[in-house]
Amino acid sequence: MNFELIHQSKKSRARLGKITTPHGVIETPNFVAVGTNGTIKALDNALVSQIGLQLMFCNTYHLLVQPGSATIKKAGGLHQFIHRNLPIITDSGGFQIFSLAYGSVANELKGKGKVKSQDLVVKITEEGALFRSYRDGSKIFLTPENSIEAQKELGADIIIAFDELPPYHIGKKKLTQSLERTHRWEKRSLDTHLKKPQNQALYAVVHGGIDPELREKSCKYLTSLPFDGYAIGGSVGKTKKEMFEILSFTLPFIPRESPNHLLGIGDLESIDLCIPLGIDTFDSSYPTRAARHGIALTSKGPLKVEKAINAHNFNPIDPECICPTCQRYSLGYLHHLFKAKEITALTLTTIHNLQFMCDYMAKIREKIASDLI
Ligand SMILES: [Zn+2]
Repeated sequence: MNFELIHQSKKSRARLGKITTPHGVIETPNFVAVGTNGTIKALDNALVSQIGLQLMFCNTYHLLVQPGSATIKKAGGLHQFIHRNLPIITDSGGFQIFSLAYGSVANELKGKGKVKSQDLVVKITEEGALFRSYRDGSKIFLTPENSIEAQKELGADIIIAFDELPPYHIGKKKLTQSLERTHRWEKRSLDTHLKKPQNQALYAVVHGGIDPELREKSCKYLTSLPFDGYAIGGSVGKTKKEMFEILSFTLPFIPRESPNHLLGIGDLESIDLCIPLGIDTFDSSYPTRAARHGIALTSKGPLKVEKAINAHNFNPIDPECICPTCQRYSLGYLHHLFKAKEITALTLTTIHNLQFMCDYMAKIREKIASDLI
């Protein structure tokens, strides 16, 4: 992987860059859509490539549980298996494991498997984390070494070091202990990766919660090691203000010549706030999840497709949008599909929202090029 800094804004820390991977180029800043199980929900990967989504995020945890990284390796790797010939990034699986106990993943899995979410994480030790598959309750032991090995079997262009995600509210002593263990885990991830780089780039994950001292410590330690890029993980606070403050503090400690990534945050308000701080890539399931809930993103704000007023609107969601949905279908038709509970509604709205994000980021890049941001 190669990262080239193309333009540094004169107005802020915002910058334009180009990440070159074995499967193509990612212009930065950019939005990364989440395709948890190797698919963006409701879309086919051939279409996703046409929309121009340059980077797709897949979740190692979910792919380990089903169908297993060995199966994907046997199929020729993730790109071949899911028919995507553009860049892919995978995470370590750590985020899902540690949020099982108290976070979003517990809710996500509710009612899906046979095992109660609170019983999914069995034990966390220096070696790694023992957890149960939500599918069948079988035990899986994830360590820095086998998380990286699994990500090598998947073969994404960018992979992520194994880390611990501590809860937002823990005290400084516990947060420090967690940070130190995460640093040891990330070093072990790097050592495993360097034995067989396989043309993949490895990103570290900067932690430290909302404690500036620990964020600085994390940046200084991780940037002393030869990682290819730096993701920002852990809690960045409960409000946008807190997020802005901690990121404003943290970003200057990440070398300008390395790409960075903000993990799990990519709503429009956060993107607007973080671009001037110099964030390069954002991943979020927000635009695709919103689509499945009948919310279309537009330049005038989110639009609720199912609102009665849209029933007789035979214009596209956005007349200026170039997406296949807006080129072919009216808002009235989408309204009807949602009301009739047709799954095509989810597909068509997801296509539009992804196109919206790609166009939104392209406009941001134009503004940075002209020093307007
Ligand atoms: Zn559209």
